[in-house]
Amino acid sequence: MTQRQSIPTGPQIEKAAAQHPGSGALPLDAAAGPRRPGPRPKRGVPEGLWLKCDGCRATIYRKEAEQMLNVCPQCGFHWYVSARQRVDQLFDPGTFEEWDGQLQPTDPLGFTDKKPYAGRIVAEQKRTGLSDAALTGTGMIRARRVACGITDSSFIMGSMGSVVGERLARLVERATSQRLPLIIISASGGGARMHEGILSLMQMAKVSAALARYSAAGGLFISVLTNPTMGGVAASFASLGDLVFAEPRALIGFAGPRTIKATIRVELPPGFQTSEFLLEHGFIDRIIARKDLKSELARAIDYCGG
Ligand SMILES: [Zn+2]
Repeated sequence: MTQRQSIPTGPQIEKAAAQHPGSGALPLDAAAGPRRPGPRPKRGVPEGLWLKCDGCRATIYRKEAEQMLNVCPQCGFHWYVSARQRVDQLFDPGTFEEWDGQLQPTDPLGFTDKKPYAGRIVAEQKRTGLSDAALTGTGMIRARRVACGITDSSFIMGSMGSVVGERLARLVERATSQRLPLIIISASGGGARMHEGILSLMQMAKVSAALARYSAAGGLFISVLTNPTMGGVAASFASLGDLVFAEPRALIGFAGPRTIKATIRVELPPGFQTSEFLLEHGFIDRIIARKDLKSELARAIDYCGG
């Protein structure tokens, strides 16, 4: 190769894409022709026997990724897991008991965006099998009883409406009265749920106030941030942990990078709003791979005398 700079050719672009996934160069499969607009990709490990990793673009045997708790065996990319899958991954078998599952979302504003909120709730419930975006309850993690809440980004982006806020507030209150360690695992790309207006914003204060009482009573709160944790969720309970853990390469922040860039008109540093960037800047305490999360939660509880 010569040192002469020239316009990169097709093969060079392909090589760059292979070496720097996510760098903006065309990915290999798109280089052959124009990208067709299509439906947004499904969350989680895509259907089919083989799948292409979003992290390293390697072709991965689906079963192998599933056995590794939906993590890429080549590069450690963490795919979405549902709240129910998370329960299976973390809790000793058969010990999880759901709290407040009977709370149902309503449509207090009669809100309509692309479709009426009331209809959206029913469709999301049917699609995800969840009644709202948070699952709360108690169970045993390596024989230690904990109170645990998990938000699920597949239900209206894991956004915090009245039911999510109420379930989490009750979770924290039960953890306080029963003197249980508290774990909240966030997967919320949506922040507050705009469909419920001011009522959804109030959930931030309600859950945070419950956490303040829990803290005053001496409780241990471990917040686990997973991809994505954004908006009003990141700006309230998710940031209030005594310990804040995160999964590798999770997107964590308030407003999205495009919004920030358009507002302040400054080039954002590389890795902005990732777990690794936030660990470096002191916003989170540890990055923990999914396979280690159960053991590390148990260890943290023991260490803190929970
Ligand atoms: Zn990978």
